[in-house]
Amino acid sequence: MDMNRHLCGMCLVPLTELKVQFARRMEQMVVEEKEGKQLKSVKIFSDDVFMEFCNSKCWAAREPEVMAAYELKNTYPSFQWIATCSRCGATVNRTKPYVSLNLYKVVDESKSWGCFERVLDDKEFAVLCFDCDAPTGTDAEQVHHEIPKEEACSIC
Ligand SMILES: [Zn+2]
Ligand SMILES: [Zn+2]
Repeated sequence: MDMNRHLCGMCLVPLTELKVQFARRMEQMVVEEKEGKQLKSVKIFSDDVFMEFCNSKCWAAREPEVMAAYELKNTYPSFQWIATCSRCGATVNRTKPYVSLNLYKVVDESKSWGCFERVLDDKEFAVLCFDCDAPTGTDAEQVHHEIPKEEACSIC
């Protein structure tokens, strides 16, 4: 599904430094402490950009097609611990790893020494339950690589 990364996925104009990206992400909701306050945050395991658009208008033109391709019924879920699967309506417990589809507005700040992209806006488009799209290489790996408590420290 890797498209040409240099042309808009809708109108095919060459992309400029400001663009909209559509990405599939594996993540888990966590609590982050900031200045004594507990905030909802996400731990991202992987992030794959599938499509890029020159602006949000071109994304909007492609959105119905993406919804059909992913069989999505309800999109733009609220950022709560318990979400509803955008495809089948099942409950998604965000404290466990899950798959989400996201839209990023990014600005390319690449310099001669490397590629840099700064995310200006990050919008969640869809959340999928384990039955619809199971995250791979996140929870499975974590379970396998988890160090048993007895072996965690070789000194004490
Ligand atoms: Zn475009
Ligand atoms: Zn589902």
